[in-house]
Amino acid sequence: DNVTSNNGVIDLSHHLSDEARNRLANPLKDIMRVISECPVTDLITMANGDPHHSLYPFQQIMYGLPSVQDPSDPVTSWNNSGRTQMIHSYRDQECALPIRNAFQYSRAAGLVQCKDAITDFTNLIFAPPNHHVMLTFGNSDGLTKVFRLFGQKGDHFLTDEFSFPGMTNCPLAYGVKWVGVKMDSGGIIPEELEKVLIRWDEAKLGRRPRLLYTVPVGQNPTGSTLSVDRRKKIYAIAQTWDLIIAEDDPYYFLRYDVPQTNCASADPDEFIKNFTSTLIPTFLSMDVDGRVIRLDTFSKVLAPGMRLGWITSNKLFHLKLGEYTDSSTQPPHAFGQMFVTEMLSEHGWKIEGFCRWLRSLRLEYQNRLDLLLDVFQREVEPTGYASVKRPEAGMFVWIEVFFEKHPRFVHERCSGGSPVVARTNTECLLKELFERLMNTQGVVFLPASTFAIPENALWVESDGHVPLSDRTRFLRAAFAGTEDMIEKGMIRLGKGLREFFQE
Ligand code: PLP
Repeated sequence: DNVTSNNGVIDLSHHLSDEARNRLANPLKDIMRVISECPVTDLITMANGDPHHSLYPFQQIMYGLPSVQDPSDPVTSWNNSGRTQMIHSYRDQECALPIRNAFQYSRAAGLVQCKDAITDFTNLIFAPPNHHVMLTFGNSDGLTKVFRLFGQKGDHFLTDEFSFPGMTNCPLAYGVKWVGVKMDSGGIIPEELEKVLIRWDEAKLGRRPRLLYTVPVGQNPTGSTLSVDRRKKIYAIAQTWDLIIAEDDPYYFLRYDVPQTNCASADPDEFIKNFTSTLIPTFLSMDVDGRVIRLDTFSKVLAPGMRLGWITSNKLFHLKLGEYTDSSTQPPHAFGQMFVTEMLSEHGWKIEGFCRWLRSLRLEYQNRLDLLLDVFQREVEPTGYASVKRPEAGMFVWIEVFFEKHPRFVHERCSGGSPVVARTNTECLLKELFERLMNTQGVVFLPASTFAIPENALWVESDGHVPLSDRTRFLRAAFAGTEDMIEKGMIRLGKGLREFFQE
């Protein structure tokens, strides 16, 4: 049973994998900590192999950032005017994170200045009850570490039935299996999650799954966003069944159709308050127990090549992730940490300017989504072979294709047998369509089969269940490209569908 420890966070140490338990702290990093706490003022340390900063071949780094002075729409005004704001990192002059400090070896959570800047942002936006921030090389790196913290051979993790293979692939290699939870256009269905946990037969399947990996906003690939009501239900289920929730949220700030806020406000605090009121409450913000590990990344809101993100978690998981980082990747590169620290500092955008950028970026993607849906309505819908629902967030639309209208569609009714064997040839037709669109129309969408989590008869209801392979009838389209790409792509889809269905 869970026991409450002194600081009000539940003891969740029983979730740690053997690997995480067996991992030793890197002794060199521990000595660094002891040295940093030493009271001697003129301490000479000859302990580490640290090149001295006078030998770093960097004197100054300049970054030209878009100016966020245009309060209404910095993304558009930057694209039109190219007006930039210059910020600097210096080796010897004053700045938020000097080069001489940034390029030294550091502890796992990241350089203090950068970690503090991101912690301030995290506290302001997510207001987590009692959590700690650790920098990562983005969410791929963060999730890889998180999965190893909890998973080992024979374990099962839970995720959306269509999930992101870039992430789910990783623990498969060391023997963790995935259990897909049924979803609809609103994401994971809480009652279905509960059903899996209730039905779980430990004698046949081993330990009940203890971790839920989910992308709650603009889910990849379905584009779905979990409502606040579903989040509360899922959190309550996690409390009942003692689950860890890994909240992977790269699209959090790209949420559309939110009420327009007073963006012209000159008062930074008022602007930030208005901006945060348009954001959806996260699992992290509800996490009184410490069972949520949240992963944020700059990939979608600055650039993927930033390779910078952060994990927010309870103290124990924070320490364990730190031990892993100290004996593997080490904290992220100095360049990214310096840039982010200056950007968020008083020399740069500050948190307010970053929020102005995020708000403007969201409008930019919303325009692209509007365009995609307009062209879809004009070029694809009239074919009668596909439809699409407007996503609330993210970069993806999940296009449903009506394969039952295809002349070669086969429906073999099975009587009895395993419920997870496909009864139709939907997946074959989907594969054919994907190849045809690419090879004859010159347009690529990802087929839903790429994301489908294989089903196992042991955790799927036997009555009335439609096998996932028969529901794998979607194409994932991203609207991250230019208007021209979006327009042409949809025109080619309409044409390709006609040719495919009327062969
Ligand atoms: N998680 C999800 C759901 C994603 O869609 C992506 C990228 O597409 C990532 C993680 C990878 O993020 P990062 O670039 O921070 O590693």
